[in-house]
Amino acid sequence: MSYKNFPMVPRVIFGRGSFNQINDVLAPKRSSIHAPFIFLIDDVFKNNAWLTSRINLSYDDRIIFVSSKEEPKTTQVDELVEDIILKSKERPSGIIGIGGGSLLDLSKAVALLITNEGEAHDYQGWDLVKNAAIYHVGIPTISGTGAEVSRTTILTGPKLKLGINSDFTPFDQVLLDPELAKDVPKDQWFYTGMDCYVHCVESLNGTYLNEFSKTYGEKSFDLCKEIFLDGDLSEEESQDKLMMASWHGGMSIAYSQVGVAHAMSYGLSFLLGVKHGIGNCLVFDHLEEFYPEGVAIFKQMKAKHSIELPTGICAKLTDEQFDTMIRVALSLEPLWENAIGENWKETITPEKLKGIYKKI
Ligand code: NAD
Ligand code: ZN
Repeated sequence: MSYKNFPMVPRVIFGRGSFNQINDVLAPKRSSIHAPFIFLIDDVFKNNAWLTSRINLSYDDRIIFVSSKEEPKTTQVDELVEDIILKSKERPSGIIGIGGGSLLDLSKAVALLITNEGEAHDYQGWDLVKNAAIYHVGIPTISGTGAEVSRTTILTGPKLKLGINSDFTPFDQVLLDPELAKDVPKDQWFYTGMDCYVHCVESLNGTYLNEFSKTYGEKSFDLCKEIFLDGDLSEEESQDKLMMASWHGGMSIAYSQVGVAHAMSYGLSFLLGVKHGIGNCLVFDHLEEFYPEGVAIFKQMKAKHSIELPTGICAKLTDEQFDTMIRVALSLEPLWENAIGENWKETITPEKLKGIYKKI
């Protein structure tokens, strides 16, 4: 047995208002006055002086506002990298991603592609990246994905939605300021929060489970129940706890894997552009067979927060479209192996997946 040697985020700040320290954190990392810091920020903050006025831009530093309406694409990473290289006098001092999973992933990918030749889709997969990324910092503004701790950056490429999984992917620094999540709309809070919940359920019920993953997964699972079900928390407590649940949920899958909901949600997202959080909810709602207890609790959480999931998403799809979703879902072999076990191909057939997709 050979055990994996995973990197972790080496530096983290946690606390309400800790975003005020951003300039002090970055200053020692500036390599020269010609090597800018590039801030990739969700464009929901475009006219938000409360956040942006706290960033001191010096020399050639710049902010690039990016829409997270669609999930990050490999082509989008390539365009950003080209723009940054062309407009910077020297290799940038660092990339700082501020936003949800979309912006965090985009920032990780851009930091990697600045030092690795070729295009982003060349590196989708496991351990294909050769060179260390430039310094990169993650600052989540919505909690749940665990992208702040993970060793992957999930991108939609020409053929697949697949992560760039590598030892160079994790952030060098993460800043967790729960106050940044104060204006997240309720539905989005639920969908992204449920991403965390599903990470826990899939990790805790997977065949890859081990004590490392379990301790993180159980803590995160309990926090999710406190936040989404038991419910006597103040808004601030809830924001603080969800930020840490996300962190622990991400740590839990680092040393195990996700499962059925993620595999199938990747299919939905690849074909229809359904976003990750809501995609997981749409699939997970129909997975009693695989996760009976987890799905029952999910339905209670949904009811408690009056969340109505859209229906009929797959109603008008052609056989070809179902085949595309199924191909993407089945290509994620480690997820199925974790969920079902080594012999997963005996029970997980294209017909089986089509049956589930048809319910969505
Ligand atoms: P997101 O980043 O797409 O953001 C969702 C919405 O919330 C957007 O409209 C955004 O503008 C808005 N938003 C974010 N912060 C806000 C704030 N403070 N106030 C108001 N609005 C705010 O959503 P997400 O669910 O965090 O991320 C999904 C992405 O994360 C997907 O692309 C998915 O593939 C990826 N992901 C990555 C990992 C990983 O380990 N790398 C894990 C899970 C998911
Ligand atoms: Zn997820």
